[in-house]
Amino acid sequence: MSDKIHKCLIIGSGPAGYTAAIYAARAGMDPVLFTGEEPGGQLMITTDVENYPGYPQGVNGPKMMDDFRDQAERFDTKIHYEKIVKVDFTGPVHKVWTESGDEHHAHTIIISTGASAKWLGLESEKRLNNKGVSACAVCDGFFFKGQKVAVVGGGDTAAEEATYLAKLCPEVHLLVRRDEMRASKIMQERVMNTPNITVHWHTETVEILGDEEVTGVRVINNQTKEEKEIEINGFFVAIGHKPNTDIFNNWLDMDEAGYLIVKPGTTKTKIDGVFASGDAQDKVYRQAVTAAGTGCMAALDAERYLINQGIQ
Ligand code: NDP
Repeated sequence: MSDKIHKCLIIGSGPAGYTAAIYAARAGMDPVLFTGEEPGGQLMITTDVENYPGYPQGVNGPKMMDDFRDQAERFDTKIHYEKIVKVDFTGPVHKVWTESGDEHHAHTIIISTGASAKWLGLESEKRLNNKGVSACAVCDGFFFKGQKVAVVGGGDTAAEEATYLAKLCPEVHLLVRRDEMRASKIMQERVMNTPNITVHWHTETVEILGDEEVTGVRVINNQTKEEKEIEINGFFVAIGHKPNTDIFNNWLDMDEAGYLIVKPGTTKTKIDGVFASGDAQDKVYRQAVTAAGTGCMAALDAERYLINQGIQ
C-alpha cells in the first residue's frame, strides 16, 4: 500500500470512465483509472459505431475505445489494468482494493463500472454475436434496415427496441415468454399499434440459425410445445441489463435492479466525494455519448468537491 492519497480515482474504462479521466487530468487532479476486467467496456464487443458524434464515417468500437484511452493518457492519466473488488467509504479518505490485494486511497472516487447486457445463454447466441445477434437496437438496428428481425423480451427495453426497429425493418417479431408483457402500458400500446410488429406469446428461443450470419430463429411455444422457424437476419436480445455495482452494496443507494442512485441533475451519491457516471447509474439512455456526458459531469463535480474541501 502506498501512503499517497490520490485526488481522483476512477473505476471503469468505458466512455464514462475515460471521459472523466480526460476532464480530471486537464483540471490537474492527476487521476488514476482502474480499467476493470474488460478494458474499454461494452464497446469492445461492438463492431461499427455510427452514432457517436465526431466520427462521420463511423468507427469500430474497440478503435473508439483506443482513442478514448489515448486521449486520457495524453493528459497523464495513470491507467491500471486491474479490477477493483472492494471499497470502504467510511472516512473522508476513500479506500479501494484491487484483485491482487493492493490498497489505494483517494479523496474522490468516480464510479463508471457500466452495466452488462443479459444474454439468453445459448451457444448459437454466442457464436453469432456481432454476426446478426445484438443487445442494442439503437446501436445496431441500422445495419438491418429493410430486413426482418426478432426481439426477445417483454419489458420496456424490448418494447422500445421493437418499435425502434419497426421504423427500419418491414417485419419485427417480438418473442415474449409469457402471455403478457412486463413493459409499461404506454409502451405495450405502442407495440400493439405498430402494424409490422408481430408478438409471439408464450414463445422461447431454442436456437438462432445461421453459420456466418443469422438466417432465422427456431422458437418453441412453451404451452403447446410446438416448434417453428422464423426467417430473420437480426436477433436482438432485450431481456435486461445488470449494472456492475455489486461491490457498492451496503455503501451506496441503489434501485431494486442495482443501478446507483444519484442526486438528480448531478453525479453525487449519498457519500461525499463519491460520484457515479455512465450506465452504472443510467438504466434509461445507456448510450456511449450519454455515458461520456455523465463522465464529464462526474469529473466537474469531483473538482468542485476538492475545491470546497480545500484539497489542492
Ligand atoms: P426488465 O427486467 O423490465 O424486463 C426483462 C424482460 O425480459 C421481461 O419481460 C422478462 O420476462 C424477459 N426475460 C428475462 N429473461 C428472459 C429469458 N431468459 N428469455 C426470455 N425473456 C426473458 O428489463 P428492461 O431492460 O426491459 O427494463 C429494465 C428497467 O429499465 C425497467 O425498470 C424499465 O422500466 C426501465 N426502462 C425504461 C425505459 C424508458 O422509460 N424509456 C426504457 C428501457 C428500460 P418476464 O416478464 O417473464 O420476467
